[in-house]
Amino acid sequence: MSPSMHALWLEDGHLQVRADVPVPTPGPGEALIRVRLAGICGTDLEMVRGYYPFTGILGHEFVGQVVAAPDAPAWEGRRVVGEINITCGQCRFCRRGLERHCENRTVLGILGHHGAFADYVTLPVRNLHAVPDAVPDEMAVFTEPLAAAVEVLEQVHVRPSQPVLVVGTGRLGHLIARVLTLTGAEVHGVTRRAENATRLRAAGVRPLTPDQVPTAAYPLVVEATGSPHGLDLARQAVEPTGRIVLKSTYAHPQPLNLSPVVVNELTLVGSRCGPFAPALRLLERHRLDPRDLIEGRYPLTRGLEAFAHAARPGALKVLLVPGD
Ligand SMILES: [Zn+2]
Ligand SMILES: [Zn+2]
Repeated sequence: MSPSMHALWLEDGHLQVRADVPVPTPGPGEALIRVRLAGICGTDLEMVRGYYPFTGILGHEFVGQVVAAPDAPAWEGRRVVGEINITCGQCRFCRRGLERHCENRTVLGILGHHGAFADYVTLPVRNLHAVPDAVPDEMAVFTEPLAAAVEVLEQVHVRPSQPVLVVGTGRLGHLIARVLTLTGAEVHGVTRRAENATRLRAAGVRPLTPDQVPTAAYPLVVEATGSPHGLDLARQAVEPTGRIVLKSTYAHPQPLNLSPVVVNELTLVGSRCGPFAPALRLLERHRLDPRDLIEGRYPLTRGLEAFAHAARPGALKVLLVPGD
């Protein structure tokens, strides 16, 4: 009989803590990783609401320690974070360097691969990045969403002399705003909450309420609310010929009035996962410290409470601690 572990299991939109999930066995090229800390993000909440038809263990933001890597024993014992797209390496997109768009991909805790809200998780060794000693777990657990924030800089040229607006300054929007400040640009972030405004100000981001957002004033707007209102506000704020980066996972199809996109010659840029190595460098060099975004820590066995906390309006990062 294989040993069992605790895990947060999603089935038919029903999330439960299970104590009887078998510890996974690493497949060819994979490592078995003991999860040290995992983070709940908006995608996890959307999945519980039925965003993807996924059955199994949720969770894609984690830091852990490799306990076994039969094909790459040098990784054993190392503290790691892991890229979430598990790719085939063979398809036309993989061969062109577009691995994150692999036609045959599975995605950690999202699509066809059990996630990290568990005592143990498996990932291919090629997905792993060693965490520098200078980066504590509480920072490393932000690597995946921080990489997603860095992706904005991969996709669009940010001109430091022009203002940037981030609509939606929750878990991910906060990180995006902070990454954008590193360019030297003046960054504005939309929030209704006073305490969030304080946190933004401390990070060098100028908070605006939705009513204060000027019309047609930004060449670049990042939308990270996941709501139709957010997209409307972004479209109102962007100047003619400007760009809107869509950084949300939309739970439902959005009605989209394309007319202003055409008339104002806007560019819409879809944006998903990003590169881990630069995110880890930012953390290692303390260019960015996301730890003030942590507002809750729960043992894995109290995972349902953790999810309820993360779903509160305005909640920032809630962490799960396996083995507690
Ligand atoms: Zn996420
Ligand atoms: Zn592929």
